[in-house]
Amino acid sequence: MRTLKKLALAVSVCFASQLSYGAESDRTNIIFLIGDGMGVAYTSAYRLFQDNLATPELDKTIFDEMLVGMATTYPDDHNQVTDSAAAATALATGIKTFNGAIGVDAQHQPVISILDKARELGYLTGVAVTCQVNHATPAAFIAHSDSRQSYEAIADQYIDLKINGKPKVDLIFGGGQEYFVRKDRDLVKEFEAQGYKYIDDINKLRKVKKLPALGLFSTGGLTPAVESDHPLRLAEMTQKSLELLTQKSAHPKPFLLMLEASQIDWCGHANDIACAMGEMRDMAETMKIIKQFIDANPNTILVATADHSTGGLSLGAKGRYQWEARVVRNIKATAPSIARQLLDSKANWKTVWQSLTQIKLAEDEQKAMDALIVQANENNQEFISGQVTAQVLTFFDKYTSTGWTTKGHTGEDVQIFSYGKGKETFQGAMDNTDIAKKLFTYLK
Ligand code: MG
Ligand code: ZN
Repeated sequence: MRTLKKLALAVSVCFASQLSYGAESDRTNIIFLIGDGMGVAYTSAYRLFQDNLATPELDKTIFDEMLVGMATTYPDDHNQVTDSAAAATALATGIKTFNGAIGVDAQHQPVISILDKARELGYLTGVAVTCQVNHATPAAFIAHSDSRQSYEAIADQYIDLKINGKPKVDLIFGGGQEYFVRKDRDLVKEFEAQGYKYIDDINKLRKVKKLPALGLFSTGGLTPAVESDHPLRLAEMTQKSLELLTQKSAHPKPFLLMLEASQIDWCGHANDIACAMGEMRDMAETMKIIKQFIDANPNTILVATADHSTGGLSLGAKGRYQWEARVVRNIKATAPSIARQLLDSKANWKTVWQSLTQIKLAEDEQKAMDALIVQANENNQEFISGQVTAQVLTFFDKYTSTGWTTKGHTGEDVQIFSYGKGKETFQGAMDNTDIAKKLFTYLK
């Protein structure tokens, strides 16, 4: 929590000095924040998770403050459940497409995104995410591919596709070093040759003084928030992005910033509730930072939404009318990481379990776990650690009373949150493609 206060302070100081920003008052800054996999159950769970237990009322969240509408998410396939690529293409371009598609339509033709359009109009552009930066959601704003799996080809497009002679994005923060520094091509060197400042560590963010900038902070996705030294890493990247995008200049430009709390979805696929709440906190703190920014720079619109929900999360399960936010709060790592630490500690696993979860297991549960950890001394470590992870997740669900129906996505509507200039535009029920269509009308 201390990091959190420090961050909020730094943000208010920095924005106070930027009050004069916004000379081109007819052009609107756009901030588009996507919570990947963040269905309604996630924001409901987060309300309980962050509630101050010392007061009798249930505290409202930033999501409650900014809620304006709902969106349908279905893709242009013969099914009703979208993947992140089709949904991101809908949100970035305003067209429906097939699952797996990155910035291409049903006929596999490239389509223009709001980021492309902003760039054509001379906007500054930025992307900050907690997955690898060439993952499906950010990719749909920048690249075009029949397959979200073409990670290297997508990364190549980040520098090869140019608008007005320059790469499309002035600021790229996230993970994904392995896709940018390769045997066949070193995209980091190529970005540097184009004048980009490169950093490979989130601790070096303050060393970036101006745009353009590329920050890749891990080989793949960033460390999950629940076990990260930077649990509010999206909030940190957002603060820095807003600073860089609004630097004083003789010819101030509006900006479009695309942000993603990417790993809510990954925790949902893993059916890991503590993991999911860690990511939700980062998303919520990011929204608070954006709110402060917009209060000081009212010529800005924030739209936040989810691409779909993940895991079929439910608060309450197996007939039990309860959800134990308190238990979730005490869990200090993801299930696979807890499993690894239990296996490493061998006979001492109970102490480690207690410190990482504070969950008191029943005797038969302890015996079951004991048996698994003893077996681990044999061969087949990977299989055993998978079994311990599954066991840990079973205990999480039981002691928190959390339910899951799938390891995949689900097709219900998602919420739309908005703040700032024209937030009423996003009010009511709409399709996910309408969000992009409305954002296009802001661009001039
Ligand atoms: Mg995503
Ligand atoms: Zn997913």
